[in-house]
Amino acid sequence: MFIISDNFNELRKYISLWKQKKYRVGFIPTMGNLHSGHLRLIEQIKKRDVDKTIVSIFVNPRQFGPNEDYTNYPRTLEDDIKKLRDLDVDLLFCPDKDLMYPIQNAGELKIDNKILMNDLCGSNRVGHFNGVLLVVNKLFNLLQPNIVIFGQKDYQQYLIIKNMVENLFMPIELILSPIIREIDGLAMSSRNKYLNKNEREKAPKLNKSLITIKDKILQHPDKFHSILENQISELEKDGFFIDYFELRHKNNLSIVENFNYENKKYILLIAAKIGNTRLIDNIIL
Ligand code: AMP
Repeated sequence: MFIISDNFNELRKYISLWKQKKYRVGFIPTMGNLHSGHLRLIEQIKKRDVDKTIVSIFVNPRQFGPNEDYTNYPRTLEDDIKKLRDLDVDLLFCPDKDLMYPIQNAGELKIDNKILMNDLCGSNRVGHFNGVLLVVNKLFNLLQPNIVIFGQKDYQQYLIIKNMVENLFMPIELILSPIIREIDGLAMSSRNKYLNKNEREKAPKLNKSLITIKDKILQHPDKFHSILENQISELEKDGFFIDYFELRHKNNLSIVENFNYENKKYILLIAAKIGNTRLIDNIIL
């Protein structure tokens, strides 16, 4: 049976029943407009030791800045429901914003991590990760999942949530799932829909740059700063506006002073605008 719920009473009824039966619950939080990247997360979690799978669809207003695309963000609930039904998801939770942010709760809690949350995407999108942590907390409390899966595409988001789960002793196992790409290498994203034909043709250059730079850095580790600077100039000539293109330590995203290659210790991350669309991507070294 596929349950679609947009209210707490119904939701709590199922969650408490499943808890009584000692079912293990897997959870995939999304903002909807589901593509193959999202669907792969669902397939992956179903391979784990879970009895029930929950997906949430909620375009979270708190993680969008005032000049960002909250209003335009693609909302395709009917199509999404069909896809979830085909994948045998047990429950879709799709609340509206007044349910998640009741007006009487005006003074909201803020969870912070100054180091991780103000850097990279957090420095360009002020308050973004506070909004992410707030909604993820609410969803974790409501749904009480045992396992939650996140995509590597939003690697900083994954690390920030992992840090919160560990610090607050939440009894939740987190899984990171690889980036799913279009055939030409572009990381799948709901925001790819904003790209016009010309921008769409250029967009895979972000992924190609990551691959090229990874190879070059491995060949000339002492020159990684200049390698990155040159590639940023190339992309800017191509019409990209680069928010950041950086080599960081993979475990905590701290800045790399000296590159000393040990397998899978580093990550290259990029965020760039093409036209009005902001895209992110990364690759592990
Ligand atoms: P969103 O709907 O964009 O908030 O994404 C929901 C989840 O899907 C997040 O954990 C994302 O990291 C993940 N996700 C989005 N796009 C991809 C992708 N191309 N590959 C893997 N995971 C993805």
